[in-house]
Amino acid sequence: MIGSASPRTITILGATGSIGASTLDLIRRARDDWRVVALTAHCNAAELARLAREFSAEVAIIADEARLPDLRAALAGTGIHTAGGAQALIEAASRAVDITVAAIVGCAGLAPTMAAIECGKTVALANKEALVSAGSVMTAAVALHGAKLLPVDSEHNAIFQCLNGKCAAADLSHVASITLTASGGPFRDWSVQQLAAATPAQAVRHPNWDMGAKISVDSATMMNKGLELIEAFHLFPVGLEKLRIIIHPQSVVHSMVEFCDGSTLAQLGPPDMRVPIASALAWPARMQTPCAPLDLAAVGELTFRSADENRFPATRLAREACGAGGAMPAVLNAANEVAVAAFLAGRIGFTRIAALTESVLARHAPPAPTTLAEVIAVDHEARAMAAEMLEHA
Ligand code: NDP
Repeated sequence: MIGSASPRTITILGATGSIGASTLDLIRRARDDWRVVALTAHCNAAELARLAREFSAEVAIIADEARLPDLRAALAGTGIHTAGGAQALIEAASRAVDITVAAIVGCAGLAPTMAAIECGKTVALANKEALVSAGSVMTAAVALHGAKLLPVDSEHNAIFQCLNGKCAAADLSHVASITLTASGGPFRDWSVQQLAAATPAQAVRHPNWDMGAKISVDSATMMNKGLELIEAFHLFPVGLEKLRIIIHPQSVVHSMVEFCDGSTLAQLGPPDMRVPIASALAWPARMQTPCAPLDLAAVGELTFRSADENRFPATRLAREACGAGGAMPAVLNAANEVAVAAFLAGRIGFTRIAALTESVLARHAPPAPTTLAEVIAVDHEARAMAAEMLEHA
């Protein structure tokens, strides 16, 4: 990596997932530049053990304590420290490292991500649900503890690059608007009738990106773009009215910033998460990736069109929750997580995901949380309400 002398230390929260795998693929190709400190997973002990061995991790943590005996057995004799449970995850996130990759999926990643922030760390943030739920509690902790958030989400990483990393409100007065691009997902051109019959297998088959199941479904409902809108609201404080969403089926332009003089800067790249991950890992330097260079002649056309909130109401729900502020983004996120899990389990149809989320938002308006514990309480209450609505549907 350009600019680094000795190996940099790294912890990956959610190492066994899609973002974890892409991050470790980059590290595998630059082994001398990195020392892996902690790797974590939820329940996939076998894969966690395999990765911990391959990368000679100091620590391997499994969130589901019932899987700890499997992890211990798989790592016996290696000298790699093992532990299980929520507290062990937080301790792993608190270890001194140069960079922590927050790649747990869902609000489950909130407490460990906050632990890393409270230690004043540099956090490469993929776990958008944590920032959506905790919002100003998280950004206040970043400021208080001198932590740094480097966005991994491709859109936010693109915006971060266009802004040259200068994202404080005082640096953004010349920004006229920020446009998040969206592929539109696998159901971009489907009718409402077709959407009602969409299956989990169809929803997780994204045309451009290879991702975990939850974010793939979020992409299909467009809730992913809604969550990203709220994520952008916190990362780039220009005001909600300056944040836009545009459909761009080719997923080549990853987002754009328009300035007050009429200039618009965009970041382009192949639809491969290793590009934004590499940008975050090396920032402000650059590192090599194995990604195929962008061949615009082969892409041929870059097209753009407006998002359709009638067929995909999730972006409207997210914008409304963001505008309402307080606890509402956490309620939106929790209800959506429950609805997506129910859809993946075959319990509800595709269009019920947004409908259930909207019903929870309409019935549950708790006071604005001011601490991590309060955010987690809001999340739990909203999940319970969503689960109850599912039972009585
Ligand atoms: P995956 O489902 O592929 O991986 C999730 C990771 O989190 C796994 O390591 C999993 O462990 C772990 N995990 C799941 N539940 C828990 C829990 N309750 N406690 C602790 N660990 C848990 O997700 P992705 O990699 O796709 O996404 C990760 C995050 O990055 C999400 O927030 C997503 O929105 C964001 N993101 C992802 C992109 C992508 O291309 N995949 C793009 C941009 C953002 P185990 O394997 O044991 O279940």
